[in-house]
Amino acid sequence: VGKLGKRVAVAEQVQVGGTCVLRGCVPKKLLVYSSEFSQSFRDAKNFGWSVDWARFDWPTLRDNVHKEVNRLSDIYSTNLNAANVEVIEDRAIVQDAHTVRLTREGRSVTAERILIAVGGHTYRPTDIKGQEYGITSTDAFLLDELPASILIAGGGYIALEFATVFAGLGVETTVIYRGERVLRGFDHEVRAHVHNEMQRAGVKIISGATIGEIAPLANGKKLASLSNSMQMEVDQVLWAVGRAPNTNGLGLENAGVVLNERGAVVVDAHSRTNVPSIFAVGDVTDRVNLTPVAIREAVAFVNTEYLDKPDAMDHADIASAVFCSPSVGAVGLSEEDARAKGHKLRIFRTTFRAMKNVFAGNEQRTLMKLVVDQNTDRVLGVHIAGQDAPEMIQLAAIAVKAGLTKAQWDATCAVHPTAAEELVLMGEPVAH
Ligand code: NDP
Repeated sequence: VGKLGKRVAVAEQVQVGGTCVLRGCVPKKLLVYSSEFSQSFRDAKNFGWSVDWARFDWPTLRDNVHKEVNRLSDIYSTNLNAANVEVIEDRAIVQDAHTVRLTREGRSVTAERILIAVGGHTYRPTDIKGQEYGITSTDAFLLDELPASILIAGGGYIALEFATVFAGLGVETTVIYRGERVLRGFDHEVRAHVHNEMQRAGVKIISGATIGEIAPLANGKKLASLSNSMQMEVDQVLWAVGRAPNTNGLGLENAGVVLNERGAVVVDAHSRTNVPSIFAVGDVTDRVNLTPVAIREAVAFVNTEYLDKPDAMDHADIASAVFCSPSVGAVGLSEEDARAKGHKLRIFRTTFRAMKNVFAGNEQRTLMKLVVDQNTDRVLGVHIAGQDAPEMIQLAAIAVKAGLTKAQWDATCAVHPTAAEELVLMGEPVAH
């Protein structure tokens, strides 16, 4: 909007970059890369390499990640500058439909439009005794030392990604999940595959249980009492039980902006709130809480409000990835969602051990699954759990978004030898 010649100011209370750059996707992915080396060192042996001397140093990784995050944040600041955007280092609180108050400076600023893009924060179950002895994902990036053991509460994206990171770095890792199989919302076969593969790789998963209480011990460890009567003594407990919109104390009620029961800003397809001059995009609206979605919502806002091109983010068929091990990539409908929508289905599935894993003696298997509408032959969903699934799903998402049929997938010649070629070689549907 600044580049369009409008006067724009951004109020930022901490550091430019947001959750993704500062304490989410970016630093997380760097930790994941680091954690993958331990498996690579084990896999290397049959390829002729011996790396018995490998040592890991947490402060080196932590500080380098921190430096990289700061470098990226600086680039964002530079870009804002170049777009003639004024960055105000302060917390803004909405005063009325056109005014925000800057809490440190104490002055008020008015604008024709206010865009709320404040994201969310890690949620802690405040009703659990001793919950404050647990850390959140934000704290996990800053630990003084790597724990010898960790208990992670939750079975979603953050729980599994951090379980993968810590396990890969040699930490004794346990996940405690209240449901039966991790990754609710994903296809049931992906959930079972990831659940089993993570356990096989050494992450302990306790299902159907929650943490009832955490107590500090004299030796610096924490004693977690679980709902299944178990007790665990661990170095750290990590809460990964979801995130909540950052609307507390934001003053939206001063302008009469409607929030939902989770505290998220209620918006229409054009990210408009019930107040004509106030808009909201990203996690604060709790639609699909992913960075590229927030960016698209923001682009649609600019197109609609400043370029006279009414535009709305299409929230259908958004691909997503979980950077656990095995990693997950999914786009479109799961088998159960497709059936619930009334589709008659043909299901194509393959599981295999990638060539590299067979040679290395690595037991990890890959699962690929296509959910196909029996009447139209359209591929409604693609689900992958295995190495490089996030990279594969980005490309598969183009085909799903374009509405291609299984016959068109099959007409695409394989690239050999790759794991991805299996996606165009699934000949026969599985019997149901
Ligand atoms: P998720 O919603 O993915 O998972 C939360 C987990 O915590 C679920 O397993 C949930 O169980 C469990 N849970 C919720 N409340 C409680 C409770 N009171 N007691 C015990 N367990 C509980 O949240 P995350 O925190 O993992 O991530 C937040 C969001 O951030 C994600 O949904 C995603 O949108 C985004 N994200 C995306 C990433 C990516 O794209 N790779 C990476 C990280 C985050 P149940 O399943 O039963 O509800």
